[in-house]
Amino acid sequence: MRRKLLTIACLVASLVVVSLAMMSVSCSQQTSPPAVQQQATPSVVLPPWGVQHDRNAPQPPVVDSGMASTQPQAGKPPSDAIILFNGKDLSNWESEKGGPAEWKVEKGYFATVPGKGDIRTKQAFGDCQLHVEWSAPNPPHGEDQDRGNSGVYLQSNYEIQVLDSFQSKTYPDGQAAALYGQYAPLVNACRPPGQWQTYDVVFHGPRFDAAGKLTRAATITVFHNGVLVQDHVTVLGRTDGEHEPYEKTPTKLPLKLQDHNHPVRFRNVWIREIPETQG
Ligand code: MG
Repeated sequence: MRRKLLTIACLVASLVVVSLAMMSVSCSQQTSPPAVQQQATPSVVLPPWGVQHDRNAPQPPVVDSGMASTQPQAGKPPSDAIILFNGKDLSNWESEKGGPAEWKVEKGYFATVPGKGDIRTKQAFGDCQLHVEWSAPNPPHGEDQDRGNSGVYLQSNYEIQVLDSFQSKTYPDGQAAALYGQYAPLVNACRPPGQWQTYDVVFHGPRFDAAGKLTRAATITVFHNGVLVQDHVTVLGRTDGEHEPYEKTPTKLPLKLQDHNHPVRFRNVWIREIPETQG
């Protein structure tokens, strides 16, 4: 009898619990606001070869990282760099006007010869890491833009200004290490004229669809003498002229150096192409 009573009590309790639960669900369906859609959690993008920490994944190629330059001595490029100046001739360059590059080569450097025009690499490049060393004339001559002016043009279109900006003022987006006419450098890291200076650049070029519409703007990061001066800035278009828009261009174009009528010197110029998968 006692067991029977206990069973009945349990049944009644269960019915009460179930009823309360159903009432609760019904009630919440009537009065609660709609459930907030859960935000999608960013998923981990796995590399194409499989899982994270896969010890069988392809190992990065080994490179000799080379040596940094000193003032008297040009450094040694990384072992996988494309060397654009071998210290002896301009065989990797040509005049933008056509024909051989007519700039001067001596003592391990080359220099602008005013009036000979811009020079460009024979090879075309896309996304890349670029290293350039330059030296403004010493003693300095001229002021403002008329003082040690040249330029490093990524893909012949986007100028990183070369200028003697050591204790010499001009408009900020036209001084040394400016992306000309678009971005002043974050700081002025210029060395005195006659000293060697470095530009280390990371460049990702623009992309266009078949109709010529821009699908990805170019970006540039620049270190001037090892100091960050352009932090992954978005290139607004070509830098020659006033706010020139993008034009559909090939993925690869030559690197260009500017003749701005000043005998600026260059040495230790090398480039490393960035694979498309990293770009
Ligand atoms: Mg210039």
